[in-house]
Amino acid sequence: LALSVSSLAYSANDIKLPDMGDSTGTLISPLQEKALGESFFRNIQSQLPISNDPDIQQYIQSIGQHIASHSDNPQQAFYFFVVLSQDINAFAGPGGFIGINSGLILNSESESELASVIAHEIAHVTQRHIYRAYEAANRMTLPAAAAMIAAIIVATQAPEMGIGAVSAIQAGSAQMQINFTRDNEQEADRVGLQSLARANFDPRSMPAFFEKLQQASRYYGTGAPEFLRTHPITSSRIADTRGRAETYPYRQSADSQMYRLIKAKLRTLGPSSADDLIVFFEKRLSIGTQKQREAMQYGLALSYAKKQNTEQASTLLKKLHQSDPQQTLYLSSLARISSLNGDFTVADSYYQSLQTDYPENQSFKREGIANLIKAKKAQRALQQLKAIPYAFQHHSQYYLLLAQSYGLLKKTAYLHRYMAEYYYVTGQTSTAIMQIKLAQQAKGNNFYLAAILEDRLQFFKAEITALKHLENL
Ligand SMILES: [Zn+2]
Repeated sequence: LALSVSSLAYSANDIKLPDMGDSTGTLISPLQEKALGESFFRNIQSQLPISNDPDIQQYIQSIGQHIASHSDNPQQAFYFFVVLSQDINAFAGPGGFIGINSGLILNSESESELASVIAHEIAHVTQRHIYRAYEAANRMTLPAAAAMIAAIIVATQAPEMGIGAVSAIQAGSAQMQINFTRDNEQEADRVGLQSLARANFDPRSMPAFFEKLQQASRYYGTGAPEFLRTHPITSSRIADTRGRAETYPYRQSADSQMYRLIKAKLRTLGPSSADDLIVFFEKRLSIGTQKQREAMQYGLALSYAKKQNTEQASTLLKKLHQSDPQQTLYLSSLARISSLNGDFTVADSYYQSLQTDYPENQSFKREGIANLIKAKKAQRALQQLKAIPYAFQHHSQYYLLLAQSYGLLKKTAYLHRYMAEYYYVTGQTSTAIMQIKLAQQAKGNNFYLAAILEDRLQFFKAEITALKHLENL
């Protein structure tokens, strides 16, 4: 999924947002909502550790999209992403942007449990609760509202991290809490349950998972899962949801293999040492079904890779690939390990076969191009970048790869021009301005490029001005 970010036909800074608390949603237009969501996501990217692992991104988007397509507003666009944080949390921003913490995924015991949290967040969006929750952002300019909502979420997510560019608003604002009402929560459960059942997950896993979270909070005390603070779970709410879940026919929903593999992968990205991970996965190699054991072997392979033991990792992955050639995660891991090892030709052949088998997959394309750049094949990289369809261009990695290719070709004006876009889409607008100025001073500038640079400079500056206005509130 591509994020269209920079190509809005109007200057976002001119728009004063209407009162977003309107539950009918008539006051904020779909275009404004989209622009607000994208601006929010740029802010979040610069403040939270968002996973850019293509396998993880693809999984969370596909399960999220599957549930959203069974929601009461299947037309609404959603973008799901994973925050690499051990805290158990999930949150919804404007424009259908929904973040799920890796800690929540790792603490789910079935895919239906994970799905139930996603369904609950989707319902907050489709029922337009989030606009009331983010009351503080009403009637601000668009970039200011986006920064404010991002600050609220970052403050909830990681209180010690909720500083940065927006500290002034945080200090000055009393309304820095996500404020879902009890009615909102009940409605999100009820509407979420319907989507969950329609998407063929087990509705009973929603009350079960919420109850587990609540029990965990009794043990942890102040260290309770963040999810419980933003979505207060009471015993009566669990009882209500259980009663409702039991009206659905009993359904056993098997975990997908992708869910197991992604969990294994997320575990290796956490704080555990490679040695501890190896012990963890080795202990589980002979437990459960064949598919469960394969997921543990995959985790073990990634743990060896984390330990820089690429030979053992590759051997395991090749075995897994042979036993299940359809599973892309084995092949893509082999490709990445080869590239990391400096075996660019081997990696290239893996990427080419992935691209042949999955021509629609944009992240395999981008990874293949990144491998070409590491092999210093800038012309081929640039050729392939130019073949990427427009709809998939507005992506941080795309801009980074363009900048790197031009860097190798010593075209510094273009190097800085695309670094500017990279910094902008990742929420670092001041750095983007510095890059534009470097591009303007660089050799190789021409009339056409100069006009683009001036245009982008004004656009970025207007956003900074809007944020300054916010700090003065
Ligand atoms: Zn909620």
